[in-house]
Amino acid sequence: MRSVADHFSQSYAEAREKFCAAVAATGGGLRSLRNPTLGPDGGRLFMDVARYGVDDAPKMLVLMAATHGVEGYCGSGAMINWLRAGRAATLPADTGALLIHGVNPHGFAWIRRVNEDNVDINRNFVDHAKPYPVNAGYIELADALKPASYDEASLAESKRVMDAFAQQHGAFGFQSAVSAGQYTHPQGLFFGGNKPTWTNHTIRRVIREELGQTQIIGCIDFHTGLGPFGHGEMINVSPPGSAAFALAKKWYGQEMTSTEDGSSTSAIVTGAVLDAFPQEAPYAAFCGIALEYGTYPVDEVLEAVRRDNWLHIHGDLNSAQGRAFKAYMRERFYPAGARWAEMVWARADEVIGMALRGLAQS
Ligand SMILES: [Zn+2]
Repeated sequence: MRSVADHFSQSYAEAREKFCAAVAATGGGLRSLRNPTLGPDGGRLFMDVARYGVDDAPKMLVLMAATHGVEGYCGSGAMINWLRAGRAATLPADTGALLIHGVNPHGFAWIRRVNEDNVDINRNFVDHAKPYPVNAGYIELADALKPASYDEASLAESKRVMDAFAQQHGAFGFQSAVSAGQYTHPQGLFFGGNKPTWTNHTIRRVIREELGQTQIIGCIDFHTGLGPFGHGEMINVSPPGSAAFALAKKWYGQEMTSTEDGSSTSAIVTGAVLDAFPQEAPYAAFCGIALEYGTYPVDEVLEAVRRDNWLHIHGDLNSAQGRAFKAYMRERFYPAGARWAEMVWARADEVIGMALRGLAQS
């Protein structure tokens, strides 16, 4: 018998192969949308979209993996567990499911949070015709976050700048400045882009074509990197006061956190991918959350992103340092070992169950 961890993968190619095979074995419809770039092994990259249930089902469960590339190992493992456990066959007659595997397949394959343009997909869904939000804290920290070299002197200088900022604004103030998103430094961290990315265009098309006739959408976007090891935090990124926020509160209760009221481990972010659902399927009621799994302390997670950013701009992926940075990155967003995978799946099954109950009662 397979263990829970066997449903998780060690490479993008393995994850994709398992996902597509599980879809075929469970009678799902599959469309594969090709990303224009290639993986590190030269392999092609896709956003794979599996569909279950009758055409134009009034209620749709939506699961998303790899909005943040490397975080896709988590969502992929959860989805493959869900499929192999036979959950798709238990959906009510009026409820379908859409599983989006490889939202950002480039980052998934290259062990990066960002996409092929160094863009953070979850900061890219802003209105690009309007002035971008200004992140003054990031501008102050930009040079320290991306030092010209990773040597002792330069690291000591950036540490001094970052420590001083954290002292003045607090640890969460520092985290917010770094991770809220920025639109001024295209080579920097958490860059939201200066136009809609391939993922942005592609997922909007998927939402229009697959969910345009839906009456109610319950969406879970899988993430990793914040919170206690293996804990899955249900984060609402909709504005408090919106219909989506109220619906999520009804489905997920008091345990659900919000970036906007300070109850979440995440900073307030601008331009999240979930924003696209109400825009592209305006006639459907929408309830979307990020399911954020903890891995390691946040300073290590931010340091992993910083090293990965530096490596792809200044470093050599094939050097010993490059391999060490990649291994550090991978572990911070996808901890090795069966225990974390087991916690991910148990929580995913629980939260997906809550979404299905919410859909049933709506
Ligand atoms: Zn994430």
